[in-house]
Amino acid sequence: SQQVKSDIEIAQAAEMMPIKELTKRLQLSEDEWEPYGHYKAKLSLSIMDRLQDKPNGKVILVTAINPTPAGEGKSTVTVGLGQALNKIGKNTIIALREPSLGPTMGIKGGAAGGGYSQVVPMEDINLHFTGDIHAITTAHNALAAMLDNHIHRGNELNIDVRRVVWKRVLDMNDRALRNVIIGLGGPLQGVPREDGFDITVASEIMAILCLSKDLEDLKKRLAKIVVAYTPEEKPVTVSDLKAEGALTLLLKDAIKPNLVQTLENTPALIHGGPFANIAHGCNSVIATKLASKLGDYVVTEAGFGADLGAEKFLDIKTRAGEIDPDVVVIVATIRALKMHGGIPKDNLKEENVEALKAGLSNLEKHVETIRQFGLPHVVAINRFIHDTEAEIETLRVWCEEQGINVELADVWANGGNGGKQLASRVVQEIEKGDKNFSHMYDVNASIREKIEAVAQKVYGAKGVEFSPQALKQIESFEKNGWGNLPICIAKTQYSLSDDPKKLGRPTDFTITVRELKPSIGAGFIVALTGNVMTMPGLPKEPAALKMDVDNKGRAIGLF
Ligand code: ADP
Repeated sequence: SQQVKSDIEIAQAAEMMPIKELTKRLQLSEDEWEPYGHYKAKLSLSIMDRLQDKPNGKVILVTAINPTPAGEGKSTVTVGLGQALNKIGKNTIIALREPSLGPTMGIKGGAAGGGYSQVVPMEDINLHFTGDIHAITTAHNALAAMLDNHIHRGNELNIDVRRVVWKRVLDMNDRALRNVIIGLGGPLQGVPREDGFDITVASEIMAILCLSKDLEDLKKRLAKIVVAYTPEEKPVTVSDLKAEGALTLLLKDAIKPNLVQTLENTPALIHGGPFANIAHGCNSVIATKLASKLGDYVVTEAGFGADLGAEKFLDIKTRAGEIDPDVVVIVATIRALKMHGGIPKDNLKEENVEALKAGLSNLEKHVETIRQFGLPHVVAINRFIHDTEAEIETLRVWCEEQGINVELADVWANGGNGGKQLASRVVQEIEKGDKNFSHMYDVNASIREKIEAVAQKVYGAKGVEFSPQALKQIESFEKNGWGNLPICIAKTQYSLSDDPKKLGRPTDFTITVRELKPSIGAGFIVALTGNVMTMPGLPKEPAALKMDVDNKGRAIGLF
């Protein structure tokens, strides 16, 4: 019988190209990169200036249907497609998000792809990597310390300690820190107040780093962060605290994209990893743009399904970075489609063509969404061992009947070789050139209209209900001059609606917006539906329990 190797076994057996070779292949000069060990490098932003006049490579966005709790393999397909494009002779670079340690130690598994479509060195990428997340944690907490010091030293800005919105962060799932009281111990220990911790990737600084074009833009955006309000509800910003210089300094290396490679030596830029609910869920603008200068094709990914990640990529990231996407790959799995067709999580391995058919409506909606954005699409069926021929054929035939482009992606089992047909199809769709990209809403419409546009056109909702609190906030946000920013909706990833139990393609539902949050530095308004966890907890059996290291320093059990 065939022994299926674990991701880490495959990754550790990889023949990596020394980073110097890889930079040579990209024709970088010595002063355009800094080695971080033997297999990682940081790239200088000056490369953008040198290649200013070079036409941008084609941008391929990988998204998915609404996922099951296991994740549907977007990263795996992103890496596999990048490898496959290189196999068919297209000079391609991959741009991915950096994993966060919280989910790695907790439940999710690594975020470096899987099987024969992974980025390496996967241990480094999944652990401390090049320290960018550490730098973001430090910048975030430096700001928190400066804020509390300001209050302690006389509070000249008249900050209302009950209206401080800047919490502290760390890169771990630690529910015990969600709500804390700080400043206890008497007059010399600061001013007592309620506080709390978020996971670092939920920090607005992470979103800012990912949407900034360069250091100057980074500093401008940091200056605009709202940290607190006065008793009269006047916003207090980083620029009021004069902290933007120090914060930018702390991030001067983190802003540089990290170069690594895939198992097949395809170059990959891994940079930034904001949450996909309260933030936009994509790797940095800088990495995507740089990849499109260095390669003829870029394959990049957005978090969760197309209702969240792709919508935010297309409405937020493209606006911030002047990125012009060319085609969208929608990852679908037989098991997730069966789940949308009503099959419980534990029975997804059994063949069930009827359930699969019932679940196709979910895929149908996401294809419609991408068409509404005016972009060509290819559905990639991420093949799992338990998928049967009958199921795959059913999906393929249905797609063809609907005029939906579809290809099998066997990249988890076979690497780039398993994705050549998908790669050719993607190139074909790009070369047809019939894209007509437009955003889902006019950024100058009212906050309500923008939220309604996404809810109706992307989620398929009848309408949006706003809580009294949300309505009050909309009024004050528009008064504060924040009305013309894009919207970042925080919603469950499992359903097109705001109810995780409504699978498939729900109809006749409304979305409830409970609360809004200004992320003025990042440049968007967050609209919260339901409860959003910004500090996850560990599960009963955390992935960390399987991890170890041997006495030579080799990681064990990291997926
Ligand atoms: P996403 O990016 O959608 O969250 P990932 O690509 O990270 O998903 O994959 C989630 C997990 O599923 C990974 O551990 C990966 O190895 C595994 N996986 C992905 N595709 C396949 C497949 N075709 N067969 C088996 N396991 C897979």
